[in-house]
Amino acid sequence: MKVVCVGAGPAGLYLSILLKLRDPSHDITVHERNPEGSTYGAGVTYWRGLLDKLHEHDTTSARAVEESSIRWDEGVAHVRGRTTRRSGDTGHGIGRHQLLEILARRARSLDVRLEFEHEIMPEKLPAADLVVAGDGVHSTLRTQYADDFGTRTRRGRNRYIWLGTSKVFEAFTFAFVETGHGWIWCYGYGFSPEGSTCVIECAPETWTGLGLDTANEADAMALLERVFADFLDGHPLIGRSGADGSAQWRTFRTVTNRTWHRDNLVLIGDAAHSTHYSIGAGTTLALEDAIALAAALHEHAALPQALARYEQERKQALLSVQSAARYSAQWYENLPRYIRLPPQQMFALLGQRHSPLLPYVPPQLYYQIDRAAGQVETLRRLKRRLGPKIARTIQARALAARK
Ligand SMILES: Cc1cc2nc3c(=O)[nH]c(=O)nc-3n(C[C@H](O)[C@H](O)[C@H](O)COP(=O)(O)OP(=O)(O)OC[C@H]3O[C@@H](n4cnc5c(N)ncnc54)[C@H](O)[C@@H]3O)c2cc1C
Repeated sequence: MKVVCVGAGPAGLYLSILLKLRDPSHDITVHERNPEGSTYGAGVTYWRGLLDKLHEHDTTSARAVEESSIRWDEGVAHVRGRTTRRSGDTGHGIGRHQLLEILARRARSLDVRLEFEHEIMPEKLPAADLVVAGDGVHSTLRTQYADDFGTRTRRGRNRYIWLGTSKVFEAFTFAFVETGHGWIWCYGYGFSPEGSTCVIECAPETWTGLGLDTANEADAMALLERVFADFLDGHPLIGRSGADGSAQWRTFRTVTNRTWHRDNLVLIGDAAHSTHYSIGAGTTLALEDAIALAAALHEHAALPQALARYEQERKQALLSVQSAARYSAQWYENLPRYIRLPPQQMFALLGQRHSPLLPYVPPQLYYQIDRAAGQVETLRRLKRRLGPKIARTIQARALAARK
């Protein structure tokens, strides 16, 4: 089969690897508009479940991803001079640059052709049995047929910027700072022994109030370094992570599509669906799309059946994640509802931000209910663990008494 992947992001590259592993005779080319090694964003998070899946499908790249990742086991929230810690929040971080380099190397070793600095225009698609639109959230291939795909886009309210820093956060760190124009916050997480990601977000009023809408990049970085000085420990923020050499303020676009394929063109990764960055899932979902598409193409000889199977499976799998992402984004948009709670409560509800119930229940009441439910669950677990032991002891005593 001749396959053309548009976009050398995680989705396109991983799909090319999996297809080649299943059938080395496939003729696969990945086209990427940017030069090799230049990519946006600093590092991404993921959870153990992804590593297990990667190992299952390609041990070589999985091992390289694992070796290049760092792990944290704690979450920390800084609010109004108070620091709250929560252990047991285990996650992994890897540089986006590093991840793409690993996948590109692996793809080449399997004889996938990688064509960098080669932008594909939607009106001039290369001839192939299958064209894969892995061209990201702003996909021009999808836009060209937006009516056929039934594309819907919802823009978030808050502004964000995806930066790096040489400060290595040991824990997943949330820092909320109150300014004269409202709250601004960052999520920081390490992705290598040399650096961390810093996603900074605020309401539009805060963004304009602080002058971030008009400041040039150097002034904006200097301002943000002052705002977050207590957490950066003198380390700079690194803004030059955009594909065009600069990081940009954006509003998040949640993209959905009624259908994910049109003739021999199929959407994958962010081109098919985007989920708010605050749940740190987009890369995982892109890789899982690749796994599902490769499997469907292997199992169904006819393309329409394979694409329908892929779409059905992934849409189903995405339902709960999309809901979590929507509520998580809303939580941050409603920050004033939670930020004045006692720090312990505020951090607990930050951890519950995916809940569909939370927006409708007074936050303190929700906290109490959640705590009580947690205690009941702990008791249940204890009962499950100790129950058989207690029953055996009672039985043994009853037998002994009868003798
Ligand atoms: C602030 C922020 C933080 C995030 N943090 C995380 C996180 O912690 N964990 C996580 O899992 N996800 C995270 N994500 C999401 C993640 O980055 C995306 O979901 C993921 O990159 C999607 O992969 P993809 O392969 O679909 O698209 P992309 O990675 O966007 O790749 C698309 C590629 O296509 C190329 N391209 C576009 N058009 C063309 C064309 N016409 N011709 C050729 N090439 C083209 C682009 O240059 C790009 O390289 C975050 C996103 C944001 C915005």
